[in-house]
Amino acid sequence: MTDPTAALPLDAHLHTDLSPDADVPIDAYGAAARERGIAEVAITDHLDFDPEGPAYDYADYGRRLRHVRAAGERWEGRPTIRFGIEMTYQRQYEAAIRAHLAGHRYDYVVGSVHIAKRDPLRSGATAAAWCAGKSHGEASAPYFAEVEAAIRSGLFDTIGHLDFVKRYTVAHLGPFRYEDHADLYDRLLVALVESGMALEVNSSGLRQAAREPYPTPVVVERFRALGGARVVAGSDAHQIGSFAFGLEEAYRSIAAAGYRSLSFRRGRDRVEVPLETDLVAALARR
Ligand SMILES: [Zn+2]
Ligand SMILES: [Zn+2]
Repeated sequence: MTDPTAALPLDAHLHTDLSPDADVPIDAYGAAARERGIAEVAITDHLDFDPEGPAYDYADYGRRLRHVRAAGERWEGRPTIRFGIEMTYQRQYEAAIRAHLAGHRYDYVVGSVHIAKRDPLRSGATAAAWCAGKSHGEASAPYFAEVEAAIRSGLFDTIGHLDFVKRYTVAHLGPFRYEDHADLYDRLLVALVESGMALEVNSSGLRQAAREPYPTPVVVERFRALGGARVVAGSDAHQIGSFAFGLEEAYRSIAAAGYRSLSFRRGRDRVEVPLETDLVAALARR
């Protein structure tokens, strides 16, 4: 990896081989983070509450906890490895999610809406039929209704990949622009401001069909204009080659919107991870 990434303080969204759709041994992240000068990472393996979800009962809490804590000891703080989770939010399982969080400690919790295997958007042919004659807003309405409910649940530190649905819709509907759907985005952003949760800038969209982060820089700027105080960044890697991929671009978007820290949680402590002046300057130059 010869990516000229500047030393970044945090990648807050990573999947190991304890996620059903990832194959990365946790120590590979330790090595990659040390090599790239990324000081802190959050392991956020998937947890589903829908019995049909791939991460339902995939790896139990104790196993995930030991996996991360043991790696944390092996890497001795270079990088620091945090025990996070990415919970798939679905309204019908909100009570179960709440109960899980009441009984299990994490350093950091991402709440995300995913597209279930049975959803028409998951395969090209059915997605084309679903999108036919619809606007982006119409085609994505079920997804965004769940995202809004996830925000209003107040359960999470951050909402992961806010507009991830565009991974499945851009092939049929073209680019999904904030300017064309300002009402839709603003509704979510205002809810997020009210919730106090962080907006995650997730760079995985840069390597997927959308070819842009979830969400784009204009949405990050808009979030700040609406009073959003907290943002965070993650590469959402599922393979080692995607570790920190596009992360610098996510940071650039955050810095350009005027933020000077990332919002994160380390167990009991909600913290602001500063973006040092020289990093902000380097991001602006590139
Ligand atoms: Zn996700
Ligand atoms: Zn993820």
